Amino acid sequence: MNANNTNGPEVLGPNDGKWLGEYSQVHMNVFGTPLRVMDHGEGTHVWDVDGNRYLDFLAGIAVNSLGYAHPAWVKAVSEQAAKVAHVSNYFASEPQIELAAKLIELGGAPEGSRVYFGNSGAEGNEAAIKIAKLHGRTLTDDGSARIIALVNGFHGRTLGALSATWKPAIREPFQPLVPNVEFVEAGNTEALKDAFASTGSDGKGPVAAVMMELIQGEAGVRPVGAEFVKYARELCTENNALLIIDEVQTGIGRTGSWFAFQREELSGGIKPDVVTFAKGVAGGFPMGGMIAFGAKVADLFTPGSHGSTFAGNPLGAAAGLATLSTIEQEHLLANAEARGTQLRDGIMATGNPLYESVRGCGLLDAVQLSHPCAHAVMNWCLERGLIVNAVRADALRFAPPLIVSESDVEEALAILKDVPVDLPDD
Ligand SMILES: *Cc1c(COP(=O)(O)O)cnc(C)c1O
Repeated sequence: MNANNTNGPEVLGPNDGKWLGEYSQVHMNVFGTPLRVMDHGEGTHVWDVDGNRYLDFLAGIAVNSLGYAHPAWVKAVSEQAAKVAHVSNYFASEPQIELAAKLIELGGAPEGSRVYFGNSGAEGNEAAIKIAKLHGRTLTDDGSARIIALVNGFHGRTLGALSATWKPAIREPFQPLVPNVEFVEAGNTEALKDAFASTGSDGKGPVAAVMMELIQGEAGVRPVGAEFVKYARELCTENNALLIIDEVQTGIGRTGSWFAFQREELSGGIKPDVVTFAKGVAGGFPMGGMIAFGAKVADLFTPGSHGSTFAGNPLGAAAGLATLSTIEQEHLLANAEARGTQLRDGIMATGNPLYESVRGCGLLDAVQLSHPCAHAVMNWCLERGLIVNAVRADALRFAPPLIVSESDVEEALAILKDVPVDLPDD
């Protein structure tokens, strides 16, 4: 394998092969075999252990907002690591306080809003589900209050978050989970209305919360639709239920706004009660959490309600602050919007009959394929130095770093244009 090959390998290199063999000897097999063993990155590119370079249009699943090794991020993390990395929640730190304040400001959250930090998307959602349960206790004290989640929704793998995650294959082996979670089809306003109206029948309690993504990322980048979101907001307000928006994937600039709920076309302009965030917030440092909108929701958590040893630690908070300030300074919201449009329009303009339609917003996008060959397309692109994601058998997902340039998108489009239409189905 030529270490200077800038177009990606034709096959796995010898070092990849060696490391992947060792990987499988020491890791539980929950992820399948990794595609490559990565060594380092810079900007929108990442290199594997054989020296092959990849243009990354997945960004660690919408995590590496600033790409790899962004100087501002590296500086902030290095300086904070040299200063103090962790103090526990018996103590506080300046970056933690500043980051919470910044998130409240960027979310346009009202007076009295508060942040809870965790370390992942699932943890943000665990916290939100606990808030929903405490809210439910204010409606009925017998624990029968319900949470409505959406068909095709994804909220994480821990047991609470999994309870609200729809996909039966990943949820059912772990049942019984958190009880009183029901699933409604996105877009089906009648079903949502019925779910609220069933309170009192069959011992069903009131609805404590509706929990949803605005674009169902893991389900293939599917917007749930502004009309449906608006209707959910109305029902929640009328019935004193919380509207929890899971922005773990859509948040922190990914859609071209700080949060997807701030985009009229995705949310109809609603205000949420709770927003969860994670993936992109700290540019690669594990961090997540929840913003509770307004004092009434925020005050549901009291000392002892929840906690985590690592949560909000100074190192992660410094990474978060560097990420948010760089997004501001480099105008990356506008870039996400422009590059997303370039990508979606460019895919359709390739004229490749493999591409049926595009969807998404900003830099969270997908292309619908004319037949279910997404894994073969992903591998074909990988071998030519482009990372894309087979999010479903019949769809590719794109979530490049928010710093992606016009020429990066052109380079990706040139590869996507040439994908053979007759690759084998999954
Ligand atoms: C990725 C994701 C999660 C889970 O986040 P983890 O950090 O993997 O726990 C939850 N919700 C949504 C919408 C996600 O995309």
